[in-house]
Amino acid sequence: MNKIKAAVLGATGTVGQRFIQLLDHHPFFEITALAASEKSVGKKYGDIVQWKLDTLIPDRLANMIIQPCEPSLDARVAFSGLDSYVAGEIELAFASKGYAVVSNSKNYRMAEDVPLVYPEINADHLALIDVQKKNRGFKDGFIVTNSNCSIMAFLNIIHVLDRDFGVDKMTAVTMQAISGAGYPGVASLDVLGNVVPFVGGEEEEKIRTEPLKILGKLNHHRIELSKIIISPSVNRVPVLDGHLAAVSVKLKNKTTVEDIKERLREFKSIPQELELPLAPKRPIIVHEAINRPQPRLDIHLEKGMAVSVGRIRPCEVLDFKFTCLVHNTIRGAAGAAVLNAELLYAKKLL
Ligand code: NAP
Repeated sequence: MNKIKAAVLGATGTVGQRFIQLLDHHPFFEITALAASEKSVGKKYGDIVQWKLDTLIPDRLANMIIQPCEPSLDARVAFSGLDSYVAGEIELAFASKGYAVVSNSKNYRMAEDVPLVYPEINADHLALIDVQKKNRGFKDGFIVTNSNCSIMAFLNIIHVLDRDFGVDKMTAVTMQAISGAGYPGVASLDVLGNVVPFVGGEEEEKIRTEPLKILGKLNHHRIELSKIIISPSVNRVPVLDGHLAAVSVKLKNKTTVEDIKERLREFKSIPQELELPLAPKRPIIVHEAINRPQPRLDIHLEKGMAVSVGRIRPCEVLDFKFTCLVHNTIRGAAGAAVLNAELLYAKKLL
């Protein structure tokens, strides 16, 4: 099978490194170009990257020369792990020159004609690609995005609860890993032995708004936003990988803890039906142990593509509460984007 040529924009960053790890020997895609900022351009990837993953840099890529983020790269798909300060302009330039841009950055997530996709929930939102092409005069190019990493800890779970019982409102207290801030990220003097009750980059705003688009309904080529009210409180904690969230929900219809557990355990959707290579067989893993999920023990389940949930119990203020966990750089970032690209491939949109 001829693989689709793929470039990684922001290849040296935290998310860029995960792209490289996940795309190495991928059945659909082959990395043909690596790109980053001016300071990295012209250097061998292996010489310049501050590699932080527990697998080796693939030899072929270690020797690849980093190119500028300009739309003349030899690729059809551009996976973007770019800093949001530059992602807006660069991603637009690539899409207008015919690349399928699969982005992690926040810049276009809430644009009305850009799909913000979580394949288990809203694969149908890919229909916005045609609207986007028409609106922006793109011929073959387009932008598809995935959401902020911390909401991916609870999106799937809220989707199932909303589908089956209706979610009225919710609170989410996040405990976010330091890899979520990129490299070098949060200073060790700030975060070691500490909890910082703030995450920059408008994190709480993203948690309040992005789920409403993903859980929204496609209606005549527009997304009708979900009306769920979300109250987030974010924290940076001294954990390497894995965003944990303590969530409470108010439901519109009555149910029980056991019923919720069963529905979450049974949940499967389009990526599982299509058997996409990176799709977790069990997208939601329900834990019974009283002290799970934990980042160190549970982030790697289903190769980092499943979310974990535990401590599902009645809430004294709303209806139910639980603790959930996502691997922030896999399911919460690069893995989410690769799954989006696999969906595009399966739907013959590449
Ligand atoms: P990062 O480690 O700081 O990496 C940023 C990347 O952007 C580097 O490859 C850097 O290249 C490149 N870059 C910076 N300025 C550039 C410029 N002027 N031109 C071209 N390339 C430039 O950040 P990250 O954590 O990987 O995050 C990347 C994106 O994903 C951000 O938009 C972030 O919000 C989003 N995101 C991150 C996570 C996470 O868990 N980390 C989760 C979800 C979404 P150089 O090395 O050459 O400077």
